[in-house]
Amino acid sequence: MANPIYKPVESSNISALAYDGAIGYVQFNNGRRFGYTMPKSLFDQLMAAKSKGSFFAKAIKGKCDVAFTGWKCDNSPCERDAIYVGRPANDPSILAFKVCRECTKEGRFHGINFSVIEDIKR
Ligand SMILES: [Zn+2]
Repeated sequence: MANPIYKPVESSNISALAYDGAIGYVQFNNGRRFGYTMPKSLFDQLMAAKSKGSFFAKAIKGKCDVAFTGWKCDNSPCERDAIYVGRPANDPSILAFKVCRECTKEGRFHGINFSVIEDIKR
């Protein structure tokens, strides 16, 4: 991932925004950062919106793919950005883990087959 430059914004739940490489980055007031795949034109609309929180909820959340979550893949030693939460299909002793797109394709996590994958909660 590139290093996006965040610009502070005034909003009740968003504190900063950045755009880089076809990804719009949103930093929430709790400090969590997420990236969503979106065209620059949509990001510009978000940046210009009077209520950025409302625009985000209406036009981006659940509509644009999550591209960055600020989390690293838990499948050590993988260091890629996680974009999914996974749960092993047949081992309830393992709680949810964060996993990157590439490890998801491989379908194995710490040597355990898994099949249940959810998008990161948005
Ligand atoms: Zn991984």
